[in-house]
Amino acid sequence: MGSADLKNPKSSFCILPFVGMSIMSGGQNKPCCKFRDWNDQDLAQEKNLSEIYQSGYYKTLRQQFLSGERPQTCIRCWEDEANGIPSFRQTRNEYYGELFDDEVIKQPRVKILEYGFGNACNAACITCESPSSSQWYKDDKALAENPKTKRLNRPVEKPIRQTYDWSDEDFKNLRRLYYTFHESLLSPELKRHLQRIVNLGVAPEVQIVLSTNGTNIPEPEFLQLLTQFKKVILQISIDGLYEQNDYIRYPLKWPDVESGVQFWRKVSEAHPNIRPMMRATISIYNFAGIKDLIEWWQGTMGAGAKYSLGHCSHPQYLNASILPKLIKDHYLKNSALPERVRKILTAQNPSIKDREQHLLNQFYAYTRFLDLRRGLSFKKTFPNLFEQLKSDSNIFDTVKSLDSL
Ligand code: SF4
Repeated sequence: MGSADLKNPKSSFCILPFVGMSIMSGGQNKPCCKFRDWNDQDLAQEKNLSEIYQSGYYKTLRQQFLSGERPQTCIRCWEDEANGIPSFRQTRNEYYGELFDDEVIKQPRVKILEYGFGNACNAACITCESPSSSQWYKDDKALAENPKTKRLNRPVEKPIRQTYDWSDEDFKNLRRLYYTFHESLLSPELKRHLQRIVNLGVAPEVQIVLSTNGTNIPEPEFLQLLTQFKKVILQISIDGLYEQNDYIRYPLKWPDVESGVQFWRKVSEAHPNIRPMMRATISIYNFAGIKDLIEWWQGTMGAGAKYSLGHCSHPQYLNASILPKLIKDHYLKNSALPERVRKILTAQNPSIKDREQHLLNQFYAYTRFLDLRRGLSFKKTFPNLFEQLKSDSNIFDTVKSLDSL
């Protein structure tokens, strides 16, 4: 397969433009969620997936990979690889290898699809934004209108509900489905799409990843539908314990998250194809608590219970790697620090380098603004980090304003 040789570690080839698509709530699409630019000419609510895949946007990108190029639009993968962090490209090439062959190079088709049905959500997590959560609209609007925070350039998206009516052929090609952009369990459209796949007879070949914040418990009929798929990974997003959960995943409350986890534990015991897994997003707020979070998860679900760790690379002012070196060194001395957190703290990001102070100031402005609006307190919720930031003389003046909260 030439440059498409997935086993060659030197190859920069990526299979996602040949088999993958990620669709935003407005119908714009791209080969994966990490890709920089959206295709906003061929909207997914107006065209079949097979038609969109024949557009110049995808054809050009595929040709770049077949020629051995490293498109600049894939910068997030190249940066992670340069920092020794497994990139989306590398992990996905390995994970989806079985869905890729010569036939797919000749006739690309969407087998891996990531999409949602708008941005309906009952949470406004601090690392999220309004295109992914309807609960964020008012706060993002306020951030965009305030003179002190408008330079954060927050997107302001109104609540959206989206429907798609693709061809049977499109649905029959699907093998991996990701409903991870928003709280899909709140959308009646999800049930309609899953029912259509079941009716077409391909559900036993289809794996689904469903993301939930754990507080939305589905009806028995929906659970029955899930049991017909090959595998359902129920990705429960949890970023902190107790009051840290309530701060990061505002306005959710920890007892509701805990009882949701118990609900899915029982469902998985009755239906082995449904597998709960914890997903945590590492950010400047929670990097120090990730070890405790993993221990809690495995203590609740059983030793070896699966979890995955992502990191907040966007917006950059919430990325833990922007912290002052002194603070990072303090945490790096702890030998029990999870490896993923260690890599984030030691990463050398060209796009962050020399901008740490600017990004920290953005972090303070954002945090202070939301604390005031939401009646929360960074100082009380993360007292250790607060004191460490306060003791750094370079940024003391900025932190002083947080101190007054
Ligand atoms: S190289 Fe990375 S950003 Fe580009 S399409 Fe592949 S996974 Fe996506």
